[in-house]
Amino acid sequence: MEAKGVIVKVAGPLVVADNMGDAKMFDVVKVGQKGLIGEIIEIKGTKASIQVYEETGGVGPGEPVKITGMPLSVELGPGIVSAIYDGIQRPLDVIKEVAGDFITRGIDVPKLSREAKWDFVPTVKKGDELVGGDIFGTVQETLSVEHRIMVPVGISGKVKEIKAGNFTIEEIVCVLETSDGDADLKMYQYWPVRKSRPYTKKILSTEPLISGQRVIDTFFPLVKGGTACVPGPFGSGKTVIQHQLAKWADAEVVVYVGCGERGNEMTDVLGEFPHLKDPRTGQPLMNRTVLIANTSNMPVAAREASVYTGITIAEYFRDMGYSVAVMADSTSRWAEAMREISGRLEEMPGEEGYPAYLGTRIAEFYERSGKVQCLGSEGRIGAVTTIGAVSPPGGDLSDPVVQATLRVVKVFWCLEAQLAYQRHFPAISWLNSYSLYHGNVKDYLTENVSEKFIEMRIEAMSLLQTESELNEIVKLIGVDSLSFSDRVILETSRSLREDFLHQNAFHDVDTYASMEKQFKILGYILKLHDISKELIEKDVPFDKIAAMSVREDIARARYRLDEDFLKSTDIDEKLESEKAKLLEEGVL
Ligand code: ADP
Repeated sequence: MEAKGVIVKVAGPLVVADNMGDAKMFDVVKVGQKGLIGEIIEIKGTKASIQVYEETGGVGPGEPVKITGMPLSVELGPGIVSAIYDGIQRPLDVIKEVAGDFITRGIDVPKLSREAKWDFVPTVKKGDELVGGDIFGTVQETLSVEHRIMVPVGISGKVKEIKAGNFTIEEIVCVLETSDGDADLKMYQYWPVRKSRPYTKKILSTEPLISGQRVIDTFFPLVKGGTACVPGPFGSGKTVIQHQLAKWADAEVVVYVGCGERGNEMTDVLGEFPHLKDPRTGQPLMNRTVLIANTSNMPVAAREASVYTGITIAEYFRDMGYSVAVMADSTSRWAEAMREISGRLEEMPGEEGYPAYLGTRIAEFYERSGKVQCLGSEGRIGAVTTIGAVSPPGGDLSDPVVQATLRVVKVFWCLEAQLAYQRHFPAISWLNSYSLYHGNVKDYLTENVSEKFIEMRIEAMSLLQTESELNEIVKLIGVDSLSFSDRVILETSRSLREDFLHQNAFHDVDTYASMEKQFKILGYILKLHDISKELIEKDVPFDKIAAMSVREDIARARYRLDEDFLKSTDIDEKLESEKAKLLEEGVL
């Protein structure tokens, strides 16, 4: 389209241009002589306000604005897995090669490589009838991810031609005979990031997203297609949790959106992620990861785009039938970007200067997660699970971003500075966190782990509740005033906290606990509790019960490998023999 807009005002990331009659809301425009990328976010008469995703220094009134007529979109096709993108899907590695460490403004590089060749394996034959969403071929993109090439939404017809072999994404690999003539299909497609990708229907998710983190899987579970929020102050372990989930959650594809608090934090992610190994396959974790990073030399507005870019890529892999996990770290930076732009648009501010639509935007973002039946005739099932970190100033949970997030997500992992300070990691509070998915996962856990599992979790939770009440009494009148049975509760709760909920992300074995292992350890802690209660009733002195050496064995169980631990009976035997011994001594 002709360049006709003219800049009239530049205010940081916001540029106002006149003579923009043709433009539509959310169209991408190229701003100024340099052609900086921006998006129209408000139109008043012939004037348009543009959010610019690059530094606007040096750009001034009078310069042209070119309307592209396209909404902000991503390119979806082979080459996306293991890429590192900025918020508007520019590959950082390619930019670095072309322009060095700092992104040259207005740089135009393809989002997906036009040169790379991919081995396209057709999965349909001539004469087959296809509809939007159907898979017509595959590309083994990395050792971990098979990229399934789908007919774009809205196209359907009969296969007239289908190829096999090595092609670039610009080559035509399939021709469909449609009611409007032939449709040439390539291996990639576009999708506007602000629009969610369609699916046939949402399905209730009843399968947990197993993470191997005991406090999560047993106490506050997440489901495939669910939503979770991890708010917490600086240093409380948000990043370690996100990394643990990226490594261990049973998702086939992970999209990690990093909106760094400070530039160097993002550099950490960029430096760390490419070295992480997928513990299950031994392959680099990047083989099933897409990383979206806002580095410090990008203006805040780019963060706004990055969460949409991330979730759109996730939906695309969901449509292939995968379980995808999106991690956004941290959504507070995204909200701040909204606040900045809203301020510059001189909109009426809501709470703490955030725009009044903050809650709506956050809700729309999380609503793009879910377990769905994908488009297409096959009825594939895919899921997008979203986990957002929030970093409220001073860890204050009344922060508007935390509150708006809690209104939509179903799991709240509440990180507490106090726990982090005591080095209890993950610092997820067992008293203040919650999961609304307990009902969803009940049947799955009963069938796949044990029918006693739910009952055991409820008992453990209630013991920890009681502990906190007892602690109040202890603070007032000391531990000696408690009955022996209350002191048994304190002992068991301590074991639940220290031997079960505490988990060292940096220990080779402890870093991941299978559901079977979680069940077995929890079982031992609760069995010892029952034995202790029985012994107290039989007048065995409390000190002797507290000194039972099997406690040590239970505490060390988490460091044992599944092969050894799951079949073992040594702890069961020791529980019985120590109990028998104490009973005998008690009687004497
Ligand atoms: P945040 O992102 O909230 O600022 P981090 O995730 O960087 O905090 O965590 C801060 C530090 O806490 C880490 O460097 C690490 O030493 C410790 N830590 C957090 N979680 C764990 C864990 N699960 N196991 C062991 N150490 C942890």
